[in-house]
Amino acid sequence: MLSNLIISSSIVVISLLFGCALLVVWWHYRLPRHVALWAGSFTAAALGHGLRTGGALWPAQDVLFAMLACHASVGGFTLLAWGFRLREQATARAVLAGWGVATIILIWAWVDHGAAWRATSRFITAAADAYMVAWVVATLWHKRGPGAVARWAMALFGVYIVGVAVAAGLARPGGVISNEAFIAVLSIGTPTGMIGTGVMTLLIVVADIMKGLHTQANSDALTGLLNRRGIDEAVARLRTCGQPVVVVIADLDHFKDVNDRLGHAGGDDVLCRFASHLLASVQAGEVVGRTGGEEFVILLPGCDVHGALARMELLRISVPAAFSSDDRLDRVTSSFGIATLHAGESLDAALARADAALYRSKREGRDRVTMA
Ligand code: GH3
Ligand code: MG
Ligand code: MG
Repeated sequence: MLSNLIISSSIVVISLLFGCALLVVWWHYRLPRHVALWAGSFTAAALGHGLRTGGALWPAQDVLFAMLACHASVGGFTLLAWGFRLREQATARAVLAGWGVATIILIWAWVDHGAAWRATSRFITAAADAYMVAWVVATLWHKRGPGAVARWAMALFGVYIVGVAVAAGLARPGGVISNEAFIAVLSIGTPTGMIGTGVMTLLIVVADIMKGLHTQANSDALTGLLNRRGIDEAVARLRTCGQPVVVVIADLDHFKDVNDRLGHAGGDDVLCRFASHLLASVQAGEVVGRTGGEEFVILLPGCDVHGALARMELLRISVPAAFSSDDRLDRVTSSFGIATLHAGESLDAALARADAALYRSKREGRDRVTMA
C-alpha cells in the first residue's frame, strides 16, 4: 500500500516535471501549439496519478477517483497523439473521436458500475490509450532517423499498454490475475513509459528547434532562398555525389533604377519576384540561392556547360515576361555568368570565374548570358 503510494507520487512528480519543462520551452521560445498539447498531456498524466493516490487515501470516494483517473489517463494520451498529428499538420479527427467514445463508455461504466467496474474501466482506459499510441506510431510511420527511433519506442510502449489491457481483463473478480499482480505490472511499466515518452518528446522539441535554426542560418531572410552558407552546404552535398556542377551567377540589370523608382520596399518586392521566378525555372535537384544584393547563384548538377548555356538563355528570355504585368517597371532584364566547378576547385574560385563572365555580359550591353 505504502509502496504503491510512493510509486504513484513519484509518477505525479515526474509527469509534472515533464509537463512544466514542455510548457516553459513552449512559452519561452514561442513554439508551435503541439508542444503545448504535449505539456497538457503530461499534466493530465500527473493529474491521473494524483487522483489514484487520492483514491487510495480516501477509500469512501474510491470509485469516483478511479473513474476520474481513467479519464485523465485517456485525456493525457489523447493530447499526446493530438500533438503528434498537429506537428505533422495531419488531421486529428480520429484521435478526438476516439477520445469522445472512450469518455462516453467510461461514464457509462461509472453510472452502471457493477462488480467488475474496476476491471472494465481499466480495460477501456488501456484500450483507448493503446489506440492513441497507435496513432502516434502511424503518424511517425514514414519517418527516418530519430523519427524512426521514436516510432519504435512508441510501438514498444503500445505493446506494453495492450498488455495492460489484457491484464486488466484477466484481473477482474474471480479472474486468473490478482489485483496485486496487475498493480505490480503497472508499477514497473507506467514510470518507464512515462519517462521514456517524456524524454522522447523533449528530444523531439529540441531536434525541431535545431532544425529550425539550421534552416534559418542557411536561408536568406528576404527571399527565403538559400544564402551563401546554404549554397556552401549544397555544394558539399553535390560533391559527395561526384556529379559535375555548373555554377551560374544571375544579376538584375540596372536594379538601382528600380530602387530609385519604387523605393527600397518596391525593390525588395522585385527581388522576391525574381527569386520566385528563378526557383520556378529550375528542375528538381538544382539549387537557387541569393548571395547578396541582387545577385543570385544557381547550381546545376549533372549538366555540361553547353546544356547550362542553353538553359540559362531560355531563363534570360523569360525574365521580362515575369514582370510585364507591372506597369510601374520598364522592361526588367538580367545578366548571367556561367562557369564549371571543377573537381577539387573551391566554390569561390568557380564563382570568381562566373562573376568575370557576368561582368562581360554587363559590359557587352546586359540582358545576356556569358560562359567563362
Ligand atoms: P547593373 O546592371 O550593372 O547590375 O546595375 P545595378 O544597378 O543593378 O547594380 P549595382 O550592383 O550597381 O547596384 C545594386 C543595387 O542593389 C545597389 C543597392 O542599393 C541595391 N540593393 C542591394 N541589396 C538590396 C536589397 O536587399 N534590397 C533592395 N531593395 N536593394 C538592394
Ligand atoms: Mg545589377
Ligand atoms: Mg550587382
